[in-house]
Amino acid sequence: MEADDLHILVVDDEARVRQAVRRVMEPDGARVSEAVNGREGLAALQQDAADLVLVDLMMPVMDGMEFLEQARRLYPHLAVVVITGYATLEKAVAAMKQGADDFLAKPFKPKELRLVVERLVKQVRTLRDMAIEKSRTRALVDAMSNGVMVTNAEGRVVLTNPSLRRAFGLVEDQVIDKPLEQALPCPEVVETMGRVLAQSEGDYQAVTCQTTGAVEGDEVFLQVTCVPFVDGRGLLVGALAVFDDVTAWRRLDALKNEFVSTVAHEIASPLSAVLGQLQVLGQELPGPLNPKQAHLVERARARVTGIINLSKDLLDLAKIEAGALGEPEEVDLAPLLEEAVDLLAERARQKDQTLRLEAEGPLPKVMGVAPELLEVLVNLVSNAVKYTPDGGEITVTARSQDNAVVIQVSDTGLGLTPEEAAKIFERFYRVKNQDTRHIVGTGLGLDIVKRVVNKHGGHIAVDSQPGQGSTFTVTLPALGQTPTQH
Ligand code: ADP
Repeated sequence: MEADDLHILVVDDEARVRQAVRRVMEPDGARVSEAVNGREGLAALQQDAADLVLVDLMMPVMDGMEFLEQARRLYPHLAVVVITGYATLEKAVAAMKQGADDFLAKPFKPKELRLVVERLVKQVRTLRDMAIEKSRTRALVDAMSNGVMVTNAEGRVVLTNPSLRRAFGLVEDQVIDKPLEQALPCPEVVETMGRVLAQSEGDYQAVTCQTTGAVEGDEVFLQVTCVPFVDGRGLLVGALAVFDDVTAWRRLDALKNEFVSTVAHEIASPLSAVLGQLQVLGQELPGPLNPKQAHLVERARARVTGIINLSKDLLDLAKIEAGALGEPEEVDLAPLLEEAVDLLAERARQKDQTLRLEAEGPLPKVMGVAPELLEVLVNLVSNAVKYTPDGGEITVTARSQDNAVVIQVSDTGLGLTPEEAAKIFERFYRVKNQDTRHIVGTGLGLDIVKRVVNKHGGHIAVDSQPGQGSTFTVTLPALGQTPTQH
């Protein structure tokens, strides 16, 4: 038997027994220490932890039963073999009840000792590995700058780390075993963890949410990822919440927004003046232009218009990201749809296009910021008008479906290849080909649309065929429904 890394403690008042263990086990590589009674045995354990203890039941000062009781309490993972002088069944049963792992009758043969130790070595090693794994995980979790909280399947707290306790002023002893809603002062996370723990088998997914905390009096913004975890049979046994401090990103983002707004605004104002002057030139009010001059003025006007539109889009984006367009409220989409279609009716007419709005039945309200949702609709309808040649058809429909409002903007325009369709929601992406060469744009519109839709708990998809047209579908959760997190 390989017992290289095994430390065995023999607690017996009989020197003969102690020596016998030494004689049998040391050649196998085990390290053997001795103690003559229970009290010395406990002292020896305290000084030099053992993996396995062989303990006699009958000893002076402190007997084997008392030793067993105390050792079990202090070292739950210790393997203990009881040595009984007169191997009575009652004694053996009593020792096993007290937590002994096995027993050995005196006098024992070397083979019997080896057999008992061999049986326990596997258990000792597994327990040791588990203890190492546990301590490694604990050290990792405790050293993390992210806050961590773990609950069992009933939603009771089983673990918190120092970073989390700092962010919420928690004391570990006061939260362990408490239901989450009593332990954690953030309803958003409690609600999200509740949803994670209520997931059905085989469909477990991580869900994110945001909350705020305070570190040394300063407010911190936290992005929280709630992850379910399962046992060996795949059954949900608890959930883990990891809190990521995104305060610095939020501040940077706010700064970036402010910077972008200022620059966009500073660019747009003088350029609007330049545009006005170019228009005056183009209308030949100061005097006639020759065809070459008229062409140059027209090109300058188109380029300046492009930069002004870019500034406007950047301003819109900054406002939406800063939440400056308003607070969420109950929104009726019907008037917004009409407004969006009205705003683009003139442009569609100039291109001989038919622009129709078809709302099917009454629409449920949604929770949202009306100017942001209007921006979404105007962007989609404006794109449909822009990317559909003269004489085409644009249809806007809205209907209620599966606790959601589904809005579709369809056109008979240029359409998109699957590769293009996969990229159009990226910031600044524009399809570049013969057909789009003369269409001005910034590549920001659909990025804004997607952000707003996601922020409202909805999603957007595009279905398109090159040369056949495109259909953009926006799905927003109807009021009273829990929005999907993104
Ligand atoms: P912009 O229109 O300012 O270029 P968007 O972000 O609104 O920016 O759109 C990105 C790109 O997606 C456009 O440049 C265009 O190539 C393509 N696109 C958008 N809407 C449509 C549409 N209805 N039909 C065909 N292509 C479209």
